[in-house]
Amino acid sequence: AGCNSGDAAEEYTVATDNNFVPFEFLNEDTGEMEGFDIDLIKAVADEAGFKVNIESMKFDGVVSGMQSGRFDIGIAGMTITEERKETIDFSDPYYDAGLMIAVNKDNNEIKSEDDLAGKKVGTRSGTTSEAYIKENHPDAELVTFPGIVEAYMDLESGRLDAVMYDVPNVQYYVSNDSAKLKTVGDILQGEKYGIAFPKDSDLVEDVNKALETLKENGTYDDIYEKWFGE
Ligand code: GLN
Repeated sequence: AGCNSGDAAEEYTVATDNNFVPFEFLNEDTGEMEGFDIDLIKAVADEAGFKVNIESMKFDGVVSGMQSGRFDIGIAGMTITEERKETIDFSDPYYDAGLMIAVNKDNNEIKSEDDLAGKKVGTRSGTTSEAYIKENHPDAELVTFPGIVEAYMDLESGRLDAVMYDVPNVQYYVSNDSAKLKTVGDILQGEKYGIAFPKDSDLVEDVNKALETLKENGTYDDIYEKWFGE
């Protein structure tokens, strides 16, 4: 819906996480990234009248890439935090999340975050879970991984006692038929995801307007239903 009809639409580079189901992950058959965030940013781009070129990488690469201005837009289930807001701009929130603990199904020792002292707790580098464990559970033995899948694998094989990570990802993983894991305790630390931009990007306002329209016209709900509906 750009006003310069006739001109070629701008193309922006979008940095995304290479594996954060169901928000972004590689479809092995098509070789394309897909997921909730991917559908959302494509819908935002259509609405705002620009094109996107999606590049996937480790989550901590998305954060540093936004800080250095290497990418125009970042969408990676990225939690809006005061600390990140010092170096990155965010859109309005588009998804409510939080943190959750997973353990092996036969673990009866860890029932909540109160039982983490002395335990090996895995999560992903550069995430809000890493910061949360450092701040609130200095007595736990923190183990970080570049990808969360490795943490779940180490949990299943008994090298870790627990994994802490984003609720929607933990639930997605645990509800998988073959998963040997369960969630314990309450949702820790409510979080909201935002689309990220380098500081002072002109795109923030356009993207917020597009997000608002997509929420009003049902497109956001359709995408939500596709990835989180029963
Ligand atoms: N929401 C978490 C964060 O922002 C993790 C995001 C992710 O791993 N893609 O730190």
